[in-house]
Amino acid sequence: MKYVRFMNRDQEIGYGCIQEDKLQLVDRNFLDPLCQLTTQWLSLDEVTLLAPVQPSKVVCVGLNYALHIKEMNHALPEEPVIFIKPPTCVIGPDEAIIYPKISQQVDYEAELAVVIGTTIKDATEVEATKAIFGYTCANDVTARDLQKIDGQWTRGKSFDTFCPIGPWVVTDVDPSQLDVQLLLNGVVQQSSNTRNFITSVPKLISFISQVMTLFPGDVVLTGTPEGVGPMQPGDEVIVKIATIGQLRNTLK
Ligand code: MG
Repeated sequence: MKYVRFMNRDQEIGYGCIQEDKLQLVDRNFLDPLCQLTTQWLSLDEVTLLAPVQPSKVVCVGLNYALHIKEMNHALPEEPVIFIKPPTCVIGPDEAIIYPKISQQVDYEAELAVVIGTTIKDATEVEATKAIFGYTCANDVTARDLQKIDGQWTRGKSFDTFCPIGPWVVTDVDPSQLDVQLLLNGVVQQSSNTRNFITSVPKLISFISQVMTLFPGDVVLTGTPEGVGPMQPGDEVIVKIATIGQLRNTLK
């Protein structure tokens, strides 16, 4: 299933799932286990797709592809390096990423995003896998100059609009071998596959849950492959992940 959160022409927020090129409404947030399909349908041009979930936090993995670690001149970490993006970073498909006045270098980072479906803490890998609702595309937008100046990542990673996600959450996906690409103004800049992950999705979710409770709708970004680089105002940036879809945003 491909679940979306949308706004209709009356500015009302709803939830649905994409069937072919139409939208079948569901009766409540799709993360609610009681959620049911309705008999109501809309066409996609009647709605604006929003960020599919509203996480309490976005947990990111910093270095999870060997070739990206090499390009950043980092040593291979012994354990996953994690950091947080606040929920104020989150925007949806086709929304604009705002270029901060105080940065001179804003980079894209194409990433597979995991959407948590049930509350977990101290989960085993098996429990972590069961707690996953689905997957979407994400762009871990980064003010690279500020990240380097600060020596830690909060300021560089946390500007409003710096976490586009979407356009939908896809269930029943095997995350272990998905092509991940980034296109800047139509040109491929990043191209890898999740089989190159240093730490697998179940291990990552289990690892993070040893630290903090994960709630339904929380999002985990799984790291970016090699090929990161800068964007400029006016650019169009697309994160494309096999079997999931593509997330398009612009910069302003
Ligand atoms: Mg990243």
